[in-house]
Amino acid sequence: MIERTLPVVKDLVLIGGGHSHVEVLRRFGMRPVPGVRVTLITREVQTLYSGMLPGFVAGHYDFDDVHIDLVHLCRFAGARLYHQSVDGLDLDRRLVICEGRPAVPYDLVSINIGSTPSIHAVPGAMDVVVPVKPISNFVKRWECFRERVASARGPLRVGVVGVGAGGVELTLAMQFSLCRMLEELGRSNELPEFHLFGASKTILQTHNRGARRRFEQMLRQRGVKTHLGQAVTAISAGQVTCADGTVVRLDEILGVTQAGAASWVREAGLDVDDYGFVHVLDTLQSTSHPDVFAAGDIAAVVNHPREKAGVFAVRQGPPLADNLRRALLGRSVRPFRPQRRFLTLVSTGGRHAIGSRGLWSFEGALVWRWKDWIDRRFIAKYRKLPTMTTGSTPVIEPGLASPEVLREISTVAMRCGGCGSKVGAKLLDRVIGQLRPVCRDDVLVGLDAPDDAAVLSVPADKVLVRTVDSFREIVNDPFVFGQIAANHCLGDIFAMGAEAQTALAIATVPFGLEEKIEDTLVQLLTGAVGVLNEAGASLVGGHTSEGAELAIGFSLTGLADPTTILRKSGLRPGDRLVLTKGIGTGTLFAAEMRMRAKGRWIEGAIAAMCQSSRTAVAVLQRFGATACTDVTGFGLLGHLVEMTKASGVQVLLNLSSVPVLDGALETSGAGLLSSLHSANVRLRRALADVERAALDRRYPLLYDPQTAGGLLAGLPGDYAERCVEALHADGYDRAAIIGVVEQQGADDFPVRLV
Ligand SMILES: Cc1cc2nc3c(=O)[nH]c(=O)nc-3n(C[C@H](O)[C@H](O)[C@H](O)COP(=O)(O)OP(=O)(O)OC[C@H]3O[C@@H](n4cnc5c(N)ncnc54)[C@H](O)[C@@H]3O)c2cc1C
Repeated sequence: MIERTLPVVKDLVLIGGGHSHVEVLRRFGMRPVPGVRVTLITREVQTLYSGMLPGFVAGHYDFDDVHIDLVHLCRFAGARLYHQSVDGLDLDRRLVICEGRPAVPYDLVSINIGSTPSIHAVPGAMDVVVPVKPISNFVKRWECFRERVASARGPLRVGVVGVGAGGVELTLAMQFSLCRMLEELGRSNELPEFHLFGASKTILQTHNRGARRRFEQMLRQRGVKTHLGQAVTAISAGQVTCADGTVVRLDEILGVTQAGAASWVREAGLDVDDYGFVHVLDTLQSTSHPDVFAAGDIAAVVNHPREKAGVFAVRQGPPLADNLRRALLGRSVRPFRPQRRFLTLVSTGGRHAIGSRGLWSFEGALVWRWKDWIDRRFIAKYRKLPTMTTGSTPVIEPGLASPEVLREISTVAMRCGGCGSKVGAKLLDRVIGQLRPVCRDDVLVGLDAPDDAAVLSVPADKVLVRTVDSFREIVNDPFVFGQIAANHCLGDIFAMGAEAQTALAIATVPFGLEEKIEDTLVQLLTGAVGVLNEAGASLVGGHTSEGAELAIGFSLTGLADPTTILRKSGLRPGDRLVLTKGIGTGTLFAAEMRMRAKGRWIEGAIAAMCQSSRTAVAVLQRFGATACTDVTGFGLLGHLVEMTKASGVQVLLNLSSVPVLDGALETSGAGLLSSLHSANVRLRRALADVERAALDRRYPLLYDPQTAGGLLAGLPGDYAERCVEALHADGYDRAAIIGVVEQQGADDFPVRLV
């Protein structure tokens, strides 16, 4: 659960999880500012440390070695994480714009989104070239390219546009990796041909002459063909054209050119340089907007122009954190002067690197080990976070807000200690005004003309299906929380084979300033309404109050044909049991709270929880489902037992075919279990041969409570496999047959293992 002790007074929004913001998060985690809520909006939940990318490509590191886990870091910092790409800023209304969700308000915002190679300016490049950033895309393409090389007949040709340190280092790393792979395949003579293209007359222009010579020699030795002093003027599928008319045919083209800035930064109206990078003062504050800070590649420090390099982004982390804190508390911000000379260590593919500083250059295996030590130490700083002890009660510093706001806060504090109260009518009107629930003909009185209660009609040939459920905050992005909660509640309707009709919402928002409550409610309800709308359910009313923590529940109605309702009681001997989603949300979120889950596991679990079961039930019905339920709080075993009891059968469960979410085996194996787990374990007496079952790594997951879990259904034996294929085709990738229904035996075990 997300702990909150004080009302939120100010919102600090960090855009992008770059090298500077990771340090801001670490420092705010170690020394929070009471009353400040930090939100990180990031396109990736695991951010790459670019200095180690070539080492990853070369095969010296695995994915986790080179990434900083932002889910983990945000948990440490007490920050909210919005996994989202930012598209713009409304500087007048202080809003961060993200596609597909309500804008995110800020009091102070900081931008650390890096840069993207500006290769797209070259005609044709947009469709063909793989830019090295966003790095997540590049990594996927790199994996595909390795497979392509492995299956190709004869050598392929690779072009890298850009002859700075990034382009050269990446070329050597790719060559090294492919060389090793082909050697292992016994095809050493099929190594791809590498071409490097640069408009400048030399490679590595910002490095000293000694380092350049060392690299030129290395490229020659390794047979890399360089095309220098010629700008690339056109790129089309399979070829690069240079300014002098040279055409080079290629199978893969990569862009590691000069850094370009995201266009929304300029479009927002911030002062930018000629390339679109945010002009900042020595304090890292925008020259045009003092409530905007920027650091790393996206920032251009007016008084100290420097090349775009991670080393500057790293160095800007501490002063950025300090100045954000000072600005929030109304104190004067301090200037920071970046160093002019810095050490550069560039790897050459194998465990060898070339270094330079000032006029010096050097190389060797020791240089690589030095680089490796520096890089690993950097990553470890954000992995091994200090254990923080809760000291004295946090107090809001007077500088954080005006006297009027502080007075309002003290009123809020009094409310916190006393009664829960209804949220103000005007505020609610504003929130509801922003929601767009679907309109349905059978809703006679809904939110479009609110009354004391909603009025619905039920067609004569249908029956009304009703359900209710509610939740405490499971993720700290209220928009996503709203989506998950709505999807979970809809699961009951779909499990009955019904069509979703309407929803009433009951929400509790943490006590706070009116504007903060409004934002939370807008995010929460917009997320929920999006999911309800997609399911065809109209939000027709609800109730909202203030309380200690964020919570939401829904009471839903659905419509069903009474002859086709799916019940738990329909299982017949011979049926196959089909589960539509992987299990493991309980253990994964228990691990996340203890900072023991990987960010990508949590994102995978969130994606599964947000996947609607509407299509799944249609598929199950199409293949003649005999019974159905949704797997939720009682865990797979609990819901299975409910079905067997209601149907008067027993089941033979194939534990090894039970689909599991990524990471759930690791977290449950480490004993990281949901607080509901132990209550579910009481059902183990329903399982025959528990001792044997317990030897299986999946065993603890039988008791794992699920949020927005999948559907568990009985399918006639002849159709089950085709049904699973259809589920896969509709995006339920993990759907699987997990067992067979049998006649009830003489003993008392509803569930036996294969
Ligand atoms: C192959 C290669 C090797 C390199 N090696 C080195 C090196 O050894 N040393 C060195 O100093 N420099 C190196 N660089 C340069 C270095 O990559 C950049 O200077 C550095 O990454 C910039 O850091 P940053 O913090 O500004 O942004 P980044 O590290 O790029 O981080 C930006 C973050 O913001 C997120 N983001 C981006 N856009 C959005 C958006 N719209 N909304 C939300 N989130 C967003 C991204 O997902 C990312 O997590 C290398 C570059 C390349 C290409």
